[in-house]
Amino acid sequence: MNRVLVTGGSGFIGSNFLRYFLNKFKDISVINLDKLTYAGLRSNTVEHETNPRYEFVHGDICNAELVKSLMSRVDSVIHFAAETHVDRSIDSPDEFVRTNVLGTNTLLNAAKNAKLKRFIHFSTDEVYGSIKQGSFTETFPLDPSSPYSAAKAASDLLALAYHKTHGIPVIIMRCTNNYGPYHFPEKVIPLFITNLIEGKKVPLYAKGGNVRDWLYVEDTARAVSFVFEHGKIGEIYNVAGRCELSNIELTGMILKEFGKGEEMIQYVKDRLAHDFRYSLDMSKLEALGFEITSTIHDNLRKTIDWYRANEAWWRKLKADRYTLK
Ligand code: NAD
Repeated sequence: MNRVLVTGGSGFIGSNFLRYFLNKFKDISVINLDKLTYAGLRSNTVEHETNPRYEFVHGDICNAELVKSLMSRVDSVIHFAAETHVDRSIDSPDEFVRTNVLGTNTLLNAAKNAKLKRFIHFSTDEVYGSIKQGSFTETFPLDPSSPYSAAKAASDLLALAYHKTHGIPVIIMRCTNNYGPYHFPEKVIPLFITNLIEGKKVPLYAKGGNVRDWLYVEDTARAVSFVFEHGKIGEIYNVAGRCELSNIELTGMILKEFGKGEEMIQYVKDRLAHDFRYSLDMSKLEALGFEITSTIHDNLRKTIDWYRANEAWWRKLKADRYTLK
């Protein structure tokens, strides 16, 4: 039995990943280490609670003793845990540095004494910064713009340095903007969907010209599982959704699904240092045999259906959000 320590498995990508991974590999058991911050919910993984191949540990990746003891029980690490919301990182960056940089360092440091086969460090396209034309390959220099992406870039560099210095079997994955079920309703797609269900307008930054590449979270789960099986130690793999849209195009698609038009858009003040466009070249991963076949039309509809069917899940989070801080 392969044993895997997954960090941040109660968040958006982590919980979708666990659903896919535990179902795909019946010879794998997982320990999910999650601090359950505002973004992590134990109920996101409730279906695994009775699965003998699943164990939940409520804890912090910055807790060196805890991390060391968990790592001695596994042969792989898949590290998702992070503070993830760019706007929050602009207002209060400290927790981003603590979790994303110090937390990753704590995990890597513990990996020195563990006998791991692989340590997948999960990162973001935002570490490359913005690109006007063309797409970033994995060899581009890092040029992050926000405290969030700077902290992620620092964690990527730490992971690579531990690979060089201590031989930790690191693989880095950098992916584009995810969307799908269980996405916290502060992020653009679930915020817009839930606002429209509530009959409210959608707040769009500036003129909505910024471009993002959209990756369905199930495709991300497939990509991580693919890299888990086929990825090479010491390598970096970009994962793109192959679906670049300006924010106004994306907004138009969502509004159309609700039978609404531009009257539901409320333009708001732009984010500071708002990156114009992210774009990743994922030919390296495709050369190994991975491909994206799903389309945003189907996936957006599935996502909207999920938010319609799970109002209790997001209504509570939205209500709590205003009592946070
Ligand atoms: P999320 O905010 O939904 O979930 C983060 C999870 O990490 C939560 O369950 C939270 O409780 C946990 N966590 C936070 N701090 C912790 C700590 N100190 N110790 C243990 N657990 C902690 O985030 P997400 O969107 O699922 O992102 C997961 C990973 O994917 C992150 O590393 C993020 O940088 C990366 N990523 C996300 C996207 C995206 O579009 N969502 C895109 C590219 C990369």
